[in-house]
Amino acid sequence: MSGKLEKLLCGIHQQSHCHPVGNATTGLCLALAALGLRGKRVAIPNSVCPNVPLAVLLSGNAPVYLDVTTRDLGIDIAELIGKGGQVDAVIAVHAYGSVCNIREIAAYCKSRGIPLIEDLAVAQGASLDGQPVGSFSDIAVVSFGAGKIIDVGHGGAVLTSRLFVLNELVAREAALGVQTAASKEAVSAFGQYHTDLYNRHYGPGINAFSTAFKTRALALRQHILCSFDRARGPEIEEQLEKLDGVVQSRRERAETLEGLLARCESVGMEILRPPAGSVPWRFNVLIERRDALLKSLLVKGFRISSWFPSADLFFEDRAVSGVNAAVSDHIGDRVLNLWVNEDADREYIAAVADELTDHLALDSV
Ligand SMILES: *Cc1c(COP(=O)(O)O)cnc(C)c1O
Repeated sequence: MSGKLEKLLCGIHQQSHCHPVGNATTGLCLALAALGLRGKRVAIPNSVCPNVPLAVLLSGNAPVYLDVTTRDLGIDIAELIGKGGQVDAVIAVHAYGSVCNIREIAAYCKSRGIPLIEDLAVAQGASLDGQPVGSFSDIAVVSFGAGKIIDVGHGGAVLTSRLFVLNELVAREAALGVQTAASKEAVSAFGQYHTDLYNRHYGPGINAFSTAFKTRALALRQHILCSFDRARGPEIEEQLEKLDGVVQSRRERAETLEGLLARCESVGMEILRPPAGSVPWRFNVLIERRDALLKSLLVKGFRISSWFPSADLFFEDRAVSGVNAAVSDHIGDRVLNLWVNEDADREYIAAVADELTDHLALDSV
């Protein structure tokens, strides 16, 4: 049961048990089920990829979308305390690789006796005062999917200190199979639908499509929930051995960008500086009237994105849900994510910084 991959991950994240899964969405869904949660309310940060609310929904629970703070891009603890009485579990996400306020969130969950799941899908290698992410919670979930810190295009893992949770999770996973080619296609078609919807409507306009989006997302169940393909294990192990180097090079690229863009801060750009110990998934800045700039950069062939619009916009009608998401909306409307992975060579970094600098200089006159 406990092979090399499991041992490696337990070592990196200071947890005692590990079980690889087909992807992190499956991991989150199984984790909630293994905790015995059904028909419950699960708090998540609202500035997050749609897979997180999707996992909550697929587990038979309801997401509670909490606003975030620009300090660390995670759940705002004041929001959690405010809504706390209404939630039965929390998924704390180290979103964008930024270490969230995990200590206070963990203390709060403990005080109420509710479970905490830590999502480090894009934060592997991050730490808080030297303690690795994934070690602060009852259950932690990591991803090795496309675009993650360790990216082999498949897989994830659940880590836990509780053997009971591990056993429950394994028992529930038995009903799932390895993802078929047809299922992979269905998941990628859904991803395209999500991107197209976003590209056509950007922020609040997305909300008009929430009913259709949610229906289609729920129909993805049999395609997205899957077990780990053991054949991919060695590749992940090999990459994990190099994690420190990967983290280091991402930090160096982010530092370079920060240096090049510092002077833009006086002309309307806000650089989001994550807390010490974070791993930059992408380098994030906030810019007013972002969409025209984003479109022009995409036309020029730059790798650039603007994740994430507030997640609730995709799943719930605001007029009904009444979700308060002032900060996550603020981020969603202004954020630009610059690449800092191995694709971001010197040329890209210099060129994208030039583009932003020129645009802001023009925009400010
Ligand atoms: C990508 C992502 C997931 C889902 O990971 P998959 O392995 O693709 O299912 C979950 N949470 C966060 C924060 C992510 O970025």
